[in-house]
Amino acid sequence: MYNNKQINFQKCADGLVPAIVQDSATLKVLMLGYMNQEALDKTLQEGKVTFFSRSKQRLWTKGEESGNFLSLQEIRVDCDSDTLLIKAIPAGVVCHTGADTCWEESNVSNDFLAKLESIIVDRKNNPSDDSYTSKLFAKGINKVAQKVGEEAVEVVIEAKDDNEELFLNESADLLFHYLVLLHAKGYQLADVLSVLQKRHSK
Ligand code: AMP
Ligand code: ZN
Ligand code: ZN
Ligand code: ZN
Repeated sequence: MYNNKQINFQKCADGLVPAIVQDSATLKVLMLGYMNQEALDKTLQEGKVTFFSRSKQRLWTKGEESGNFLSLQEIRVDCDSDTLLIKAIPAGVVCHTGADTCWEESNVSNDFLAKLESIIVDRKNNPSDDSYTSKLFAKGINKVAQKVGEEAVEVVIEAKDDNEELFLNESADLLFHYLVLLHAKGYQLADVLSVLQKRHSK
Protein backbone atom coordinates (compact mmCIF):
# COMPACT_ATOMS: atom_id res chain seq x y z
CA MET A 1 0.00 0.00 0.00
CA TYR A 2 2.72 2.51 0.91
CA ASN A 3 5.92 2.16 -1.08
CA ASN A 4 8.85 2.33 1.24
CA LYS A 5 10.47 5.44 -0.11
CA GLN A 6 10.46 8.08 2.59
CA ILE A 7 8.60 11.29 1.91
CA ASN A 8 10.55 14.47 2.61
CA PHE A 9 8.18 16.72 4.56
CA GLN A 10 10.93 19.28 5.14
CA LYS A 11 11.32 20.35 1.54
CA CYS A 12 8.83 23.11 2.30
CA ALA A 13 9.14 25.20 5.44
CA ASP A 14 5.54 24.45 6.45
CA GLY A 15 6.16 20.69 6.45
CA LEU A 16 3.36 20.09 3.94
CA VAL A 17 3.54 18.04 0.75
CA PRO A 18 0.98 18.07 -2.07
CA ALA A 19 -1.14 14.94 -2.28
CA ILE A 20 -2.87 14.22 -5.57
CA VAL A 21 -5.90 11.99 -5.16
CA GLN A 22 -6.76 9.66 -8.02
CA ASP A 23 -9.80 7.39 -8.35
CA SER A 24 -8.29 3.90 -8.17
CA ALA A 25 -10.92 2.48 -10.51
CA THR A 26 -11.41 5.18 -13.17
CA LEU A 27 -7.92 6.75 -12.76
CA LYS A 28 -9.57 10.19 -12.84
CA VAL A 29 -7.71 12.88 -10.90
CA LEU A 30 -10.14 13.77 -8.12
CA MET A 31 -8.61 16.51 -5.99
CA LEU A 32 -5.45 17.96 -4.53
CA GLY A 33 -4.75 18.41 -0.83
CA TYR A 34 -1.74 18.86 1.43
CA MET A 35 -0.42 16.42 4.00
CA ASN A 36 1.97 16.67 6.90
CA GLN A 37 3.36 13.63 8.75
CA GLU A 38 0.36 13.58 11.08
CA ALA A 39 -2.14 13.63 8.20
CA LEU A 40 -0.29 10.79 6.47
CA ASP A 41 -0.19 8.73 9.69
CA LYS A 42 -3.91 9.21 10.26
CA THR A 43 -4.66 8.32 6.65
CA LEU A 44 -2.67 5.09 6.97
CA GLN A 45 -4.18 4.20 10.35
CA GLU A 46 -7.81 4.83 9.47
CA GLY A 47 -7.84 4.13 5.74
CA LYS A 48 -9.64 7.41 5.06
CA VAL A 49 -7.71 10.13 3.27
CA THR A 50 -6.88 12.93 5.71
CA PHE A 51 -5.17 16.20 4.82
CA PHE A 52 -3.80 19.14 6.72
CA SER A 53 -6.20 21.90 5.69
CA ARG A 54 -4.38 25.17 5.10
CA SER A 55 -7.60 27.16 5.47
CA LYS A 56 -8.83 25.32 8.57
CA GLN A 57 -5.28 24.98 9.97
CA ARG A 58 -6.05 21.52 11.29
CA LEU A 59 -6.27 17.90 10.20
CA TRP A 60 -9.18 17.49 7.82
CA THR A 61 -10.57 14.10 6.90
CA LYS A 62 -12.15 14.51 3.49
CA GLY A 63 -15.83 13.65 3.94
CA GLU A 64 -16.01 14.50 7.63
CA GLU A 65 -19.10 16.66 7.03
CA SER A 66 -20.41 15.39 3.71
CA GLY A 67 -19.83 11.69 4.38
CA ASN A 68 -18.03 11.50 1.04
CA PHE A 69 -14.92 9.86 2.43
CA LEU A 70 -12.01 8.76 0.25
CA SER A 71 -11.24 5.15 1.01
CA LEU A 72 -7.47 4.65 0.79
CA GLN A 73 -6.19 2.05 -1.67
CA GLU A 74 -2.56 2.94 -2.30
CA ILE A 75 -0.03 5.69 -1.66
CA ARG A 76 2.92 6.39 -3.93
CA VAL A 77 5.80 8.79 -3.42
CA ASP A 78 7.10 10.59 -6.51
CA CYS A 79 10.63 10.51 -8.03
CA ASP A 80 12.16 13.12 -5.73
CA SER A 81 10.10 12.31 -2.64
CA ASP A 82 8.15 15.55 -2.36
CA THR A 83 4.69 14.69 -3.72
CA LEU A 84 2.19 11.96 -2.95
CA LEU A 85 -0.13 10.17 -5.32
CA ILE A 86 -3.04 8.68 -3.44
CA LYS A 87 -5.30 6.11 -5.05
CA ALA A 88 -8.68 5.97 -3.38
CA ILE A 89 -12.30 4.97 -3.84
CA PRO A 90 -14.61 7.98 -3.44
CA ALA A 91 -17.82 7.35 -1.47
CA GLY A 92 -19.58 10.11 -3.40
CA VAL A 93 -18.83 13.34 -5.21
CA VAL A 94 -15.43 14.72 -4.29
CA CYS A 95 -15.73 18.46 -4.86
CA HIS A 96 -17.64 20.67 -2.44
CA THR A 97 -19.40 22.15 -5.51
CA GLY A 98 -21.14 18.80 -6.03
CA ALA A 99 -18.96 17.80 -8.98
CA ASP A 100 -17.33 14.37 -9.24
CA THR A 101 -13.86 15.93 -9.36
CA CYS A 102 -12.40 19.35 -8.62
CA TRP A 103 -11.81 19.88 -12.35
CA GLU A 104 -15.34 19.19 -13.54
CA GLU A 105 -18.43 21.31 -13.65
CA SER A 106 -21.20 20.23 -11.33
CA ASN A 107 -24.00 18.91 -13.48
CA VAL A 108 -26.41 17.65 -10.85
CA SER A 109 -29.62 18.75 -12.55
CA ASN A 110 -28.74 17.41 -16.01
CA ASP A 111 -27.56 14.15 -14.52
CA PHE A 112 -30.85 13.80 -12.71
CA LEU A 113 -32.90 14.60 -15.80
CA ALA A 114 -31.06 11.85 -17.68
CA LYS A 115 -31.70 9.46 -14.80
CA LEU A 116 -35.39 10.34 -14.70
CA GLU A 117 -35.64 9.80 -18.44
CA SER A 118 -34.08 6.35 -18.14
CA ILE A 119 -36.60 5.44 -15.43
CA ILE A 120 -39.42 6.58 -17.73
CA VAL A 121 -38.02 4.37 -20.52
CA ASP A 122 -37.90 1.45 -18.10
CA ARG A 123 -41.55 1.99 -17.07
CA LYS A 124 -42.48 1.97 -20.74
CA ASN A 125 -40.53 -1.19 -21.58
CA ASN A 126 -41.24 -3.09 -18.37
CA PRO A 127 -44.75 -2.00 -17.35
CA SER A 128 -45.76 -2.68 -13.78
CA ASP A 129 -49.22 -2.41 -12.25
CA ASP A 130 -48.23 -0.07 -9.46
CA SER A 131 -46.38 2.40 -11.69
CA TYR A 132 -48.18 5.66 -12.49
CA THR A 133 -45.87 6.11 -15.48
CA SER A 134 -46.66 2.66 -16.89
CA LYS A 135 -50.37 3.42 -16.55
CA LEU A 136 -49.89 6.69 -18.43
CA PHE A 137 -48.21 4.85 -21.31
CA ALA A 138 -51.05 2.31 -21.33
CA LYS A 139 -53.62 5.09 -21.81
CA GLY A 140 -52.02 6.09 -25.09
CA ILE A 141 -50.56 9.16 -26.75
CA ASN A 142 -53.73 11.27 -26.79
CA LYS A 143 -54.31 10.88 -23.06
CA VAL A 144 -50.69 11.71 -22.28
CA ALA A 145 -50.80 14.75 -24.56
CA GLN A 146 -53.98 15.91 -22.85
CA LYS A 147 -52.24 15.58 -19.48
CA VAL A 148 -49.36 17.73 -20.77
CA GLY A 149 -51.94 20.33 -21.81
CA GLU A 150 -53.50 20.30 -18.34
CA GLU A 151 -50.17 20.65 -16.58
CA ALA A 152 -49.17 23.47 -18.94
CA VAL A 153 -52.37 25.33 -18.05
CA GLU A 154 -51.59 24.80 -14.34
CA VAL A 155 -48.13 26.30 -14.87
CA VAL A 156 -49.72 29.29 -16.62
CA ILE A 157 -52.11 29.76 -13.69
CA GLU A 158 -49.32 29.53 -11.09
CA ALA A 159 -47.12 31.90 -13.10
CA LYS A 160 -49.62 34.65 -12.30
CA ASP A 161 -49.12 34.20 -8.54
CA ASP A 162 -46.08 34.37 -6.34
CA ASN A 163 -46.38 30.95 -4.74
CA GLU A 164 -42.97 29.44 -5.38
CA GLU A 165 -43.89 25.96 -4.19
CA LEU A 166 -46.97 25.68 -6.41
CA PHE A 167 -45.19 27.11 -9.45
CA LEU A 168 -42.22 24.75 -9.10
CA ASN A 169 -44.48 21.76 -8.45
CA GLU A 170 -46.59 22.41 -11.52
CA SER A 171 -43.42 22.98 -13.53
CA ALA A 172 -42.16 19.58 -12.38
CA ASP A 173 -45.50 17.98 -13.33
CA LEU A 174 -45.26 19.56 -16.79
CA LEU A 175 -41.69 18.48 -17.39
CA PHE A 176 -42.38 14.93 -16.24
CA HIS A 177 -45.51 14.51 -18.38
CA TYR A 178 -43.75 16.10 -21.33
CA LEU A 179 -40.94 13.54 -21.06
CA VAL A 180 -43.54 10.77 -20.97
CA LEU A 181 -45.21 12.22 -24.08
CA LEU A 182 -41.92 12.31 -25.96
CA HIS A 183 -41.37 8.63 -25.19
CA ALA A 184 -44.98 7.70 -25.90
CA LYS A 185 -44.36 9.07 -29.39
CA GLY A 186 -41.06 7.23 -29.65
CA TYR A 187 -38.78 10.23 -29.20
CA GLN A 188 -36.42 11.30 -26.48
CA LEU A 189 -35.23 14.55 -24.96
CA ALA A 190 -32.02 14.42 -27.02
CA ASP A 191 -34.13 14.76 -30.20
CA VAL A 192 -35.56 18.04 -28.94
CA LEU A 193 -32.19 19.27 -27.69
CA SER A 194 -30.63 18.65 -31.07
CA VAL A 195 -33.31 20.80 -32.74
CA LEU A 196 -32.54 23.57 -30.26
CA GLN A 197 -28.82 23.18 -30.78
CA LYS A 198 -29.15 23.43 -34.57
CA ARG A 199 -31.13 26.65 -34.20
CA HIS A 200 -28.44 28.02 -31.95
CA SER A 201 -25.66 27.40 -34.45
CA LYS A 202 -27.41 29.38 -37.18
P1 AMP B 1 -16.14 17.35 3.44
O1 AMP B 1 -14.72 17.08 3.81
O2 AMP B 1 -16.51 16.71 2.14
O3 AMP B 1 -17.07 16.96 4.55
O4 AMP B 1 -16.28 18.90 3.23
C1 AMP B 1 -16.04 19.79 4.30
C2 AMP B 1 -15.53 21.12 3.79
O5 AMP B 1 -14.24 20.92 3.20
C3 AMP B 1 -16.34 21.75 2.68
O6 AMP B 1 -17.32 22.59 3.16
C4 AMP B 1 -15.30 22.55 1.91
O7 AMP B 1 -15.04 23.77 2.55
C5 AMP B 1 -14.09 21.71 2.04
N1 AMP B 1 -13.92 20.79 0.88
C6 AMP B 1 -14.59 19.66 0.64
N2 AMP B 1 -14.18 19.05 -0.47
C7 AMP B 1 -13.18 19.82 -0.97
C8 AMP B 1 -12.33 19.71 -2.09
N3 AMP B 1 -12.41 18.68 -2.95
N4 AMP B 1 -11.40 20.67 -2.30
C9 AMP B 1 -11.32 21.69 -1.43
N5 AMP B 1 -12.08 21.85 -0.35
C10 AMP B 1 -13.02 20.93 -0.10
ZN1 ZN C 1 8.61 15.71 -6.97
ZN1 ZN D 1 -13.26 21.04 -5.51
ZN1 ZN E 1 -50.07 19.63 -11.90
